[in-house]
Amino acid sequence: MTEQVLYIILLGPPASGKGTQAAQLREFLELPHVASGDLFRENLKNETELGLQAKEYMDRGELVPDDVTIAMVMDRLSRPDCAGGALLDGFPRTIAQARALDAALAAAGHRVALVPCIQVPDDVLVERVSGRRLCPVCGESYHVRFNPPEEPGICDNDGAELYQREDDQPETVRRRLQVYHEQTSPLIDYYRNRGLLIDIQGDQSIEAVQSDLRSAVSKIGLFRK
Ligand code: ADP
Ligand code: ADP
Repeated sequence: MTEQVLYIILLGPPASGKGTQAAQLREFLELPHVASGDLFRENLKNETELGLQAKEYMDRGELVPDDVTIAMVMDRLSRPDCAGGALLDGFPRTIAQARALDAALAAAGHRVALVPCIQVPDDVLVERVSGRRLCPVCGESYHVRFNPPEEPGICDNDGAELYQREDDQPETVRRRLQVYHEQTSPLIDYYRNRGLLIDIQGDQSIEAVQSDLRSAVSKIGLFRK
């Protein structure tokens, strides 16, 4: 599967399950998981210039400006582990980002293969965000009710203490959802018009969503270059 270059974009609102699904799908696809939010949080943790620049936007639930975001993700995609493509999560989030990605891939003779869009109603998203807990070491995403770790507050993978994201507070989440509807949801038509979008019903169990995603990506095997 991985001799061919494959770019898949997981689209969906905040807390729709992109990270949860990507963690399982990357093994199935043998592709690196490139999550722009994780890259920003890594920069924040390491107190880099980029992290400091991004922080004010993240704290408000706004998007980090396109030029900064595009440069960060392109740098990540240029690393050797992405030679066979990537499973993108949280990028692109604006039409300008999508165009920049298309142009960069085209320049290298590649293109986006598929864009599964995980659809979940806003009220369910709010509930998911409020119970989300993350591992600071491996990035695994848990939920206190829907996807709890074996031992409360502790990561199953590495025993680290789970934390709650600062921007998962109710006011910030409302703004993030608004930003999604205004700036990111136009990408649904952008990719649908290119024949790349697959709607995935996200308001079902984690296993059922994973199974739908795997069926969708298995089908495109036929069309890969
Ligand atoms: P979620 O998984 O809840 O959708 P992310 O972890 O993807 O959230 O993103 C957290 C924050 O990082 C966003 O609210 C935004 O401030 C910033 N961010 C992440 N990806 C992008 C992007 N592609 N463009 C601009 N800002 C981004
Ligand atoms: P995203 O990366 O899209 O922001 P996450 O994968 O972090 O979303 O999921 C958000 C929260 O919802 C997490 O607490 C996660 O455990 C939980 N979650 C993910 N998928 C489901 C699902 N299908 N049903 C219930 N809860 C889910």
